[in-house]
Amino acid sequence: MWFIYDSCGIGCCVGTYCIMTFVSSLVIKVAILPLGRENYISPSICIIIYMILLLLGGLSHFICMITDPGAMPRNTFHIAKDDINKPPPQVCLRCRCEKSHRVHHCSVCERCIDKMDHHCPWVNNCVGYYNQKHFVLFLFYIMVACLYSFIMLIIRVSYCASYKKAELCTRPREDTALDLLLGMAALFVGGVFFLFVTVMLYDQLSCIINNTSGIDLLKKTPIEKRSVRTNLEETFGGRFSIFWFLPTKVKRNLTRAVDMIEN
Ligand SMILES: [Zn+2]
Ligand SMILES: [Zn+2]
Repeated sequence: MWFIYDSCGIGCCVGTYCIMTFVSSLVIKVAILPLGRENYISPSICIIIYMILLLLGGLSHFICMITDPGAMPRNTFHIAKDDINKPPPQVCLRCRCEKSHRVHHCSVCERCIDKMDHHCPWVNNCVGYYNQKHFVLFLFYIMVACLYSFIMLIIRVSYCASYKKAELCTRPREDTALDLLLGMAALFVGGVFFLFVTVMLYDQLSCIINNTSGIDLLKKTPIEKRSVRTNLEETFGGRFSIFWFLPTKVKRNLTRAVDMIEN
């Protein structure tokens, strides 16, 4: 199994799961559970939808962490004694492997990664060819879960804070001050998380659509122009289907394999 033993990355991952658990438990306690059964919205259905979103986000995160992002095999290139001072430009001396212009070396993973975008401590892994889909899905589901939390908090405030509709809430009115405090905490942490994942998601999608990556942009790597559909199909592993939205394995695209051999 692929796993990076990096203390900073492991700490960030544990932190991510703690934030998710903290915010979701507050939202359920403060916003969803107080909604009474006689309300228009059933709390059980609200919790099930919320759990599905969080489960898909958490699963995408976990699979992103344990998926080989596209590590090139090591020690596949041997330098002759005479050439030791002038290695060919498309070789990584640390991994001793040949690499195409889309392959970059990661100093945390200590490997050359195909189509490396960046090393993300929040998933304790590089984001590359085989796990960019999982990274995007993690950002997407967490963004939707944050939006859902905001909607639930607004519904809770609009139903339960109003004196006339207070009977629609199961929570006693004396507890609303505590609820307000906890709701504000959930709103603040969720808001910061929402901004973070939305910016990251926008950045990832613009890279995918333009067939580039964070490192390629920094290094000004010449990139082949392709259709948006081809770029999306390569990242999400095939033609548009339900599997684009599920954290399933990404298979190597045939045209990409040919491209790798030619480089
Ligand atoms: Zn390398
Ligand atoms: Zn890495």
